[in-house]
Amino acid sequence: MGNYRICDFCGNLYERSSNRMCQSCETIYQKIRSVVEARPDTIVLDISNQTGISVSRILSFVKNGYFVMREGTIEVK
Ligand SMILES: [Zn+2]
Repeated sequence: MGNYRICDFCGNLYERSSNRMCQSCETIYQKIRSVVEARPDTIVLDISNQTGISVSRILSFVKNGYFVMREGTIEVK
């Protein structure tokens, strides 16, 4: 039997690794991160529009400490 855990972000089961999130959430995280790194002044709503990732999903990464919220924009932590 493999060693599984529940993803903190979407609730899916995934094979345990060093990550705190499943592969699909990791992909989403990297997508947000690339926008934030390229254009640090992009507000959350525009990040959502550009990536197709919902604002609430982006904010869940903020809540879990992956990004820091700054007056409507976020920074990579
Ligand atoms: Zn997930």
